[in-house]
Amino acid sequence: MINKKYVSPVLETLRNYSLRAGIEKAAGYAAEYAAEIEDRPVYPRCEALAELGQLGGNVPEHPELTDKIIDILGGAGSDTAVSSTGGRYFGFVMGGSLPAGMCAGILSSAWDQNAAKYAMSPVANELEDICEKWVSDILGLPDGTAMATVGGSSNATLIAITAARDALLARKNYDAGRNGLFGAPEIRVVTGAAAHPSVYRALSVIGLGGGRIEEVPCGPDGSMQADALPELDDMTLLILQAGALHTGAFDEIRPICEKACRAGAWIHIDGAIGLWAAASENLKHLTDGLELADSWAADAHKGLNAPYDNGIVLCRDRGALKKAMGGADLSGIDASAGTSRRDNMDYTFEMSRRARSVELWAVIKSLGRGGIGQMQDELHAKAVYFARRLADAGFEIMNDVTFIQFGAHWKDDSATEKNTQRRTGFRRLLDGRCGIQR
Ligand SMILES: *Cc1c(COP(=O)(O)O)cnc(C)c1O
Repeated sequence: MINKKYVSPVLETLRNYSLRAGIEKAAGYAAEYAAEIEDRPVYPRCEALAELGQLGGNVPEHPELTDKIIDILGGAGSDTAVSSTGGRYFGFVMGGSLPAGMCAGILSSAWDQNAAKYAMSPVANELEDICEKWVSDILGLPDGTAMATVGGSSNATLIAITAARDALLARKNYDAGRNGLFGAPEIRVVTGAAAHPSVYRALSVIGLGGGRIEEVPCGPDGSMQADALPELDDMTLLILQAGALHTGAFDEIRPICEKACRAGAWIHIDGAIGLWAAASENLKHLTDGLELADSWAADAHKGLNAPYDNGIVLCRDRGALKKAMGGADLSGIDASAGTSRRDNMDYTFEMSRRARSVELWAVIKSLGRGGIGQMQDELHAKAVYFARRLADAGFEIMNDVTFIQFGAHWKDDSATEKNTQRRTGFRRLLDGRCGIQR
């Protein structure tokens, strides 16, 4: 109990603080940042990065006013944020943030929902349930496919292949949830030699050994050579890729899946960036056969341009996913606190978490199925345009631009390096030329 006669200075300050004024102040900085995004440096300059020194120092001994904190973040923080949400950022395979998603995220911060259970937040669980149906429909996945939002595709793959592992072991009447992997039957893992590093990480984390994968040779574009696929069986986890990191190449999903389905293998598709191609009439041939897989990973924070962090795990077998994640019965949370409605925490390894589906829902609502497809078409058209202009300027374009990425090469490695990175702040930072005082 708080002693009513004594109120600490901290509580006194908080009690008198106008939250409305604080939110308006923060929203003011946010609006200014967003309005200037096309005029800001894409990567922060050295002078701006030096400002980050202000944020450090020793542990603050005394409370600070919220207004002051927001001023510091609105100054040094905004000055050093990377303008990845603007239209001039082409680094990595990062998406921006569509207005509906960004604004929904601001509101969602005020709601501060714990999305773990329906009883804790009906809106957060209901929105995730709605997104489950919408996303499976947009991607053309089987009815009843389960979905949950996670931090990103690394996490989505980790969760999906844990469900795969346990489901494969259950075929040998082995309960991995109870017995662990001690003395468990063998599982084979087959993937393309150009699989994303997150796949290797996930395999090693869940005890399937990142180093004992059967790698299928890939062509120069990073797609699996389907004719080099080994014999598969019903104790195999096959991991395919929809959209390779550097080239955007897709494995030949339908023929490979048909073969794997006949063998009874579990098929997981890492479609962090590529799954959204399914929404475009012009590009959906790339994902043909997608619905034959058992689980999928996708990133709404990439091709859908939802704000971070918005990854998606999808699994055909809802029961397998929930069982692998420990289900409600192992959570120690009183079942009577639950309802017959969806509890997000049954689907992933998280319990308390943000209501990510607020932003996901807002982005899907804002674009609609048609808009999501058009956005993929537009990204593809831009990549084709860039590749053509670079080719005209003498660059060698290293792959057919089938999706939204391509590699470009200029004469030799050192000339490529000089031409592409010379003037970017990122280069300066890597060179250590921006000495940041902590
Ligand atoms: C980005 C990416 C990942 C990792 O996704 P995160 O959201 O960064 O965790 C995995 N696979 C592919 C093909 C990717 O492009």
